Amino acid sequence: MPYCVKKCAYCDFVSYTDRFSTANEYCDTVIDELMQYDAHGYSVETVFFGGGTPSAVAPEIIMRILSAIGQKYSLANNAEITLECNPCTLTEDKLCKYRSYGINRLSIGVQSFDDNVLKILGRVHDANTARKSIESAKKSGFDNINVDLMFAVPHQTEKSLSDAIDECASFGVRHISLYSLILEDGTRLKRDVDCGALCAVDDDTDRGMYHTALKMLKEKGYLQYEVSNFAKPGYESRHNTAYWERKEYIGLGCAAHSFFGNKRYSNTEKLDEYLNGIDVRANMLGGTLVDKNSAAEEILMLALRMNKGIDLTRFSEDTGFELLEKCAGTIAKLKSEGLIELSCNRLYATDKGRDVLNYVILELAQYF
Ligand code: SF4
Repeated sequence: MPYCVKKCAYCDFVSYTDRFSTANEYCDTVIDELMQYDAHGYSVETVFFGGGTPSAVAPEIIMRILSAIGQKYSLANNAEITLECNPCTLTEDKLCKYRSYGINRLSIGVQSFDDNVLKILGRVHDANTARKSIESAKKSGFDNINVDLMFAVPHQTEKSLSDAIDECASFGVRHISLYSLILEDGTRLKRDVDCGALCAVDDDTDRGMYHTALKMLKEKGYLQYEVSNFAKPGYESRHNTAYWERKEYIGLGCAAHSFFGNKRYSNTEKLDEYLNGIDVRANMLGGTLVDKNSAAEEILMLALRMNKGIDLTRFSEDTGFELLEKCAGTIAKLKSEGLIELSCNRLYATDKGRDVLNYVILELAQYF
């Protein structure tokens, strides 16, 4: 849903603050796009309403899309259905409706419980609104709640981050996504840093905050399963895990990406163009077929993000390459540097390796 109440200072996603009047038409286009797929034999395991801010539009729009998915596909009984929310847009009425539609996971974009940090990020909500949104979600019966947190924000202290983790734990939040702020070109925050109005956080401080967070999260029972994702046992996001495991997915909507039929393709980022309708067949024809070498690169980039790493049997099935043979020398070197490990037919990055993950990936990807 490419609509947001206000543009955050760090955001370079496709989202519009002045086009809410098109939301119903948008919903029609999404459903039309969905109906063009050949769904024969597919069962949907997860649905993720992302954005933008799906909670900013009328809940009935979400319901229409969800029932269209249910009509078109067989929706697995235990499907994970997530909705991304901005704290300032959640009401008890909406939460109640989401539950009745079958949404069983909420991902709340809190980012911080520190009003100064929220101001620098240009978030539309304050810390108390964030707290109330989590409380209301719990009261409405949502057990599976993710909270997004950010670190390495200018002027953010380590204490501000650890307080945020503390708060999440005391609310009984099941899942935390923790992202380091990236200063993207074209954003207000990047301009503020470039002109000297704000000071960017240096790499050492960034890593220091990350390690403090890792330690705290572990102590509080949140198990890391991906570089930026932590969950109480059994609450790992099945949807995101499917991306990292390179399972097929269909992305619907403006700027959505898909991986289907061994092709990667995407939709227009222009809302008006999208509203004019999507031709799925043409989009797929224009997509990129993932050849064996690209598949190998993708597995390295995606699976090494996960703590469990790469399944070596699946690697050879998907790519035709034997990773251990193809990269033998480099694997031995990375192992001796303490950056990777091998066990139970899997190759994974160690804690130290995840800190320099780009280096590890580039070292291995040079063979493909
Ligand atoms: S709520 Fe999310 S999508 Fe919307 S402007 Fe902020 S960061 Fe971007």
